[in-house]
Amino acid sequence: MHRVVLSLGGNVGDRLALLKQALNLLVPQMQLIHASGIYETAAWGGNSQAPFLNQVLVMQTTMEAEQTLDFIQNIEDVLGRKRVLKWGDRTMDIDILYFDRSIIHTDRLQVPHGQMLSRNFILIPLTEVLPEEKHPQIPLTHRELLKRCEDRLSVRPWSDG
Ligand code: AMP
Repeated sequence: MHRVVLSLGGNVGDRLALLKQALNLLVPQMQLIHASGIYETAAWGGNSQAPFLNQVLVMQTTMEAEQTLDFIQNIEDVLGRKRVLKWGDRTMDIDILYFDRSIIHTDRLQVPHGQMLSRNFILIPLTEVLPEEKHPQIPLTHRELLKRCEDRLSVRPWSDG
């Protein structure tokens, strides 16, 4: 059994429903261990982009890493095809942050995820679920990595109320 940590996010359509649909599509092949809360994140750059909802999921699976990538890309396609997309915006982006504590560099896969250390929208939910775990390549915990992160983009706990 492998432990996979995923980052999910989208800024188009019914963002909360899409996060729930993504989880429903993941669970036939993966078991949910832990879900972070949902956070709302200002879009990077461009002024036309709507804010994202982001979440981190800790899952277990018997699939190997490349198979996991195929599987999550298929879910992105399924959820993407449900709505008319504007270029640049996303109904659902799913990234593999960790696959066990493996270090993977192939044409298709960089694990641990390359940008996770510089993005608050990943480090904040990741610190919520695994605060004291150390990054496999850096001797610092997620809590410490978050303190050092210079990303100042707004990431706040999301509520629709
Ligand atoms: P994106 O535009 O962010 O959805 O990136 C998708 C591309 O990133 C795909 O072509 C993947 O093969 C590649 N990729 C590399 N590393 C990862 C990872 N850790 N998780 C998900 N996709 C990855």
